[in-house]
Amino acid sequence: MGSKVSNHDYTASLVPTSVNFDNKHVFSIDVEEWFQVGAFENTISRLDWQGLESRVELQTQKLLSVLRETRQTKATFFCLGDVAKRLPHLIKAIADEGHEIACHGSDHKRLFTLAPEEFRSDVLNAKNALEEAAGQAVIGYRAPSFSLTKDTWWAYEILANLGFQYSSSLYPIQHDHYGMSDAPKTPFYPLGNSNKSIVEIPMSVCKIFGRNLPASGGGYFRLLPYFIGKHLFAKAARQNQSASIFYMHPWEVDPNQPLVFDAPLLSRFRHYTGQRGMLDKVKKMLKHYQFGSMEDVVLAPLVRHADGL
Ligand SMILES: [Zn+2]
Repeated sequence: MGSKVSNHDYTASLVPTSVNFDNKHVFSIDVEEWFQVGAFENTISRLDWQGLESRVELQTQKLLSVLRETRQTKATFFCLGDVAKRLPHLIKAIADEGHEIACHGSDHKRLFTLAPEEFRSDVLNAKNALEEAAGQAVIGYRAPSFSLTKDTWWAYEILANLGFQYSSSLYPIQHDHYGMSDAPKTPFYPLGNSNKSIVEIPMSVCKIFGRNLPASGGGYFRLLPYFIGKHLFAKAARQNQSASIFYMHPWEVDPNQPLVFDAPLLSRFRHYTGQRGMLDKVKKMLKHYQFGSMEDVVLAPLVRHADGL
């Protein structure tokens, strides 16, 4: 426990590029309310959450029907334990459509605000609530706001002990709120080659003019014109010879959500810009690429590869 990673040799623990991801990519959705986001963390207190309008169900249903329409059979939904406790039927509805339920923590506390023991109970609580609601095992985890970094590397050991088989918590970019720019860009074993119980599946980046640019959907995809987002996504897959990971949130397709006027200007810009056009852009991506869940697109080929198949 407490192991930092400063001298870790990532290259030794990379998943080999010979693993065949079948030209498929991962579609993932972080299921949280409009008021549970990192951008409003200093503006809206957790104590006030209860009195705010819940809109996550409506927007998640919207995304479920888009997935149905575009015949994408499976996606991974990283859900908050809080959502599972308040709306267990929503988690069940997602699972019943054949999608994978994964864990986004209990109430969006970023890892560096938690001691290892607090993190453990935060994640365990969420995992239990999700499994109970979904009726399926939860084996995937994504840290709130990609807050797994060198300083919180201890989280991997805890996740592995709790039965998680993968994490998708690193964004190998430089960003003011998150990111670990020197992290590997393709799946790797964060506990080293001698312990492959958990694999990290980092968000996709693509290198242009020596810089790692975010290529995984989310806010950048919403803010930039569609053709740029699509170009970066495809280029990342080619450069990394790996599946690309797309992610988004239900609140990004909700232009009618309540406005948080007293949040900082930059936070408001990042949160609200492009919401009106987001759903159409997402539909185009879903029509253009073949997507699947983390389990299907990344984990299953890894298992096959390990078995020599
Ligand atoms: Zn989140």
